[in-house]
Amino acid sequence: NKQILLDNRPQAEASASNFKLVTTETPPLHDGQVLVRHHFLSLDPYMRGRMNDAKSYAAPQPLGEVMQGGTVGEVVESRSPKFKAGDKVVGMGGWQEYSVVAADQPGALRKVDTTHVPLSHYLGAVGMPGVTAWYGLVKIIQPKEGQTIVVSAASGAVGSALGALAKARGCRAVGIAGGPDKCKYVTDELGFDACIDYKQHADAGSLSKALKQACPDGIHGYFENVGGMVMDAVMLRMNAFGRIALCGMIAGYDGKPIPMAYPQLILTNRLTVEGFIVSEHMDVWPQALQELGTLVGTGKLRPRESVAQGLESAPEAFLGMLKGRNFGKQLVKLA
Ligand code: NDP
Repeated sequence: NKQILLDNRPQAEASASNFKLVTTETPPLHDGQVLVRHHFLSLDPYMRGRMNDAKSYAAPQPLGEVMQGGTVGEVVESRSPKFKAGDKVVGMGGWQEYSVVAADQPGALRKVDTTHVPLSHYLGAVGMPGVTAWYGLVKIIQPKEGQTIVVSAASGAVGSALGALAKARGCRAVGIAGGPDKCKYVTDELGFDACIDYKQHADAGSLSKALKQACPDGIHGYFENVGGMVMDAVMLRMNAFGRIALCGMIAGYDGKPIPMAYPQLILTNRLTVEGFIVSEHMDVWPQALQELGTLVGTGKLRPRESVAQGLESAPEAFLGMLKGRNFGKQLVKLA
């Protein structure tokens, strides 16, 4: 069983030398356990935060242990009455080829149906990132029909789902993404009404002018994934009583400070700004996954994936994602 461990913690920017590849034997199964062969690993921005030994909402990734993370795969051996060989499952198997899972632990492993939804999408649109979009939109932004909703990192795993969910509610969806290819995908394939390439703008003032054109009624709701200049530009266009779901601030994940240029706008525009962590809202997951599964199954949400090949490619693919080199949900496919 090949595995990737966190070997040492990054000083500032993370690098491939923080990780270590090892090979171990998979232990024999005890009663209640199953052996899962992973087909795909999920690479997610939150993993960067856990590489640091800092106080956060989740414990840091322990040194010398397999990198934690979401996986989809197939049960190859079972000593649990709940699973049989061949079952397709989603779990938290981590950066390794196989995992031994205590199948009776609540939430440890979930069987999934791949008739209408490809297995890999259970790590993206019909998985944690999709539910993240759903929670921020439905519970925090609470959009009404006809309102304008903006999302940053719009072509990504969370952003793409956000667009489909906002369109399903009769909203105008406007994306912000890096580069012409990503913007074209956001409008042409994801069905957003407009998308702005933030890399074409040197500062928040310039980006906010482009937003004014794309959002003639102003911005009612903003789903924030990046922070920094992009957030400043959106803040300048928020309507009174606008609502901001603060989901991620990837521009600052390598430890750089990301100051906010216009905090006074929260006051003068009476904005609601609410941060959230999707794993603290397990009660909404079934409802959210049902809607997301239907959107994907009916072709209303066509998520894109960046697929790196082989476990060895995981560190570079992960570091690339933090720099925007992914295009859609970043996965690693295992042989
Ligand atoms: P994505 O698939 O969106 O990939 C990350 C994207 O972020 C990149 O492709 C890049 O897109 C963009 N990006 C990276 N650096 C910058 C930068 N400096 N400025 C602007 N954009 C940048 O990842 P996910 O969909 O998985 O995650 C999106 C966000 O959601 C992250 O911030 C993540 O931490 C957060 N999240 C939060 C959760 C929660 O519970 N609160 C749960 C899950 C995710 P581009 O090329 O367009 O710039």
